[in-house]
Amino acid sequence: MDVKFIADVHLAKVARYLRLFGFDTLYFSTIDDEELVEFAQNRIVLTKDRALAKRAEKIYLVRSKELKSQLIEILHHFTITSCYPFTRCLVDNTMVQKIAKEAIIDRLPPRIRRDFDAFWICPKCQRIYWHGSHYERMLEMVYEVCGEIRAQAVLEDE
Ligand SMILES: [Zn+2]
Repeated sequence: MDVKFIADVHLAKVARYLRLFGFDTLYFSTIDDEELVEFAQNRIVLTKDRALAKRAEKIYLVRSKELKSQLIEILHHFTITSCYPFTRCLVDNTMVQKIAKEAIIDRLPPRIRRDFDAFWICPKCQRIYWHGSHYERMLEMVYEVCGEIRAQAVLEDE
């Protein structure tokens, strides 16, 4: 997966879900357009701002209004047909690593300690991930969006 993104301030949820799907996506809640374009370098800038989209190459204007459609639109536009869900930290975009339960057991709430055995950790912010209730909800989005783009790719191959 070579396409890397940087999302503008208005696309926080899009950025979070692109990370969830495994795509390298930067997001800063306070950055102006100049800085954003400068910072982008080899990344595709995602924006909803038409004026900004006209200003430079490698900027993609997101047209859809609703989150799920925005995600499908972006992945489809860049002909991305595979997702790598739950491989990145949702907070800072770093690749997470599998970690043994014993290594982080002191940090787990009792119920999580009891109910879960598989854990991942972000080496940057030390946040721990497990397949809890958030996971179920997010998995639905993964199935819907990544399933959709895969189905479209298959149709176009025929
Ligand atoms: Zn992190």
